[in-house]
Amino acid sequence: MALDIAVTKNPSPKNKPDQNRLGFGNYFTDHMFLFNYTSGRGWHDPRIVPYGPLNVDPATDVLHYAQSVFEGLKAYKSANGDLLLFRPHANASRLNLSCERLCIPKLEPDDIVDAIKALVKVDREWIPDAKDTSLYIRPFVISTDVHIGVRPADTYLFIIILSPVGAYYPEGINPVRIFVENKYARTVKGGMGQVKAAGNYAASLLAQAEATKKGFTQVLWLDAIEKKYVDEVGTMNVFFKINGEVITPTLAEETLLAGITRDSVIQVLKHWGVKVQETKISIDEIYRAHKQGLLEEAFGTGTAAVISPIGELNWDGDTVVINNFETGAIAKKLYDFITGIQSGVVDDPFKWTLKIE
Ligand SMILES: *Cc1c(COP(=O)(O)O)cnc(C)c1O
Repeated sequence: MALDIAVTKNPSPKNKPDQNRLGFGNYFTDHMFLFNYTSGRGWHDPRIVPYGPLNVDPATDVLHYAQSVFEGLKAYKSANGDLLLFRPHANASRLNLSCERLCIPKLEPDDIVDAIKALVKVDREWIPDAKDTSLYIRPFVISTDVHIGVRPADTYLFIIILSPVGAYYPEGINPVRIFVENKYARTVKGGMGQVKAAGNYAASLLAQAEATKKGFTQVLWLDAIEKKYVDEVGTMNVFFKINGEVITPTLAEETLLAGITRDSVIQVLKHWGVKVQETKISIDEIYRAHKQGLLEEAFGTGTAAVISPIGELNWDGDTVVINNFETGAIAKKLYDFITGIQSGVVDDPFKWTLKIE
């Protein structure tokens, strides 16, 4: 059954920001979607209301114990005015995986996608159309019991907010410097690394702050136990091109997030006939490939930046420069192809885009 969403229009819409100065995550649209959960009753009262602050009791448990999960995806306006979502059902199923890991009641995947579509439609005038811009969609769930004590809550709020965005990094699709993190861990097998739990990002801040101070854009996370195998780069999955073959860390250890961009990149590479392997990758092996002149490219993948080339790695003071600190051919081709599909410029052989009718 389709969600019956009550809509209250915002009586005082805001001025829209300059499309060429959006940055990432700075502006929010005129409306938001809310959906309550109460144990014994289930999810109820789906509604779109004017965007604004929540009224939160200081004892609300999410503020103390972080029972909170989120998603991130984008909507694009194509040249002929179509509103396009990129693989939203993949985000819906991943949100449910995250919910499951944090003892949050799951949602009907179709309800999640219907809610996203309805909200984007209401705020369609906010979708920017300048080059490399889009409407970032942030669905998230928080526990809302007013109670101090560690236990799964009885009440939750599912919220969707929208933000018109430009490039994630001010560098755009340009190589970034990466610090290989050998002190802090983001996650460990059995933890929450494979889901989008808010707490994971709090755990990563100190490493990120120290790397920023040293002049790096992001950190490359190694496995928490041996500090030997590559996990992810910042909040992105990571790929390397070595001697003509593309490799990316395997999901088998359940310490990495199964990125939808990661999956799309793998499928596109296979479609192009490029050899791609999901495997355990040691940082040693990357450095060795570089010494032999075989490390051709490295890049991160994620919804926010799509493709982010890595120009330099620093591991224990040992610096390697990749592809002369230039964007590699595969990274550039993937960026153009995937953003082309997302914005309706390139034909979509995978049927990934969903038109909002
Ligand atoms: C969201 C995220 C990614 C990328 O996932 P996409 O679905 O491609 O956006 C990768 N790693 C982490 C830790 C993330 O939170």
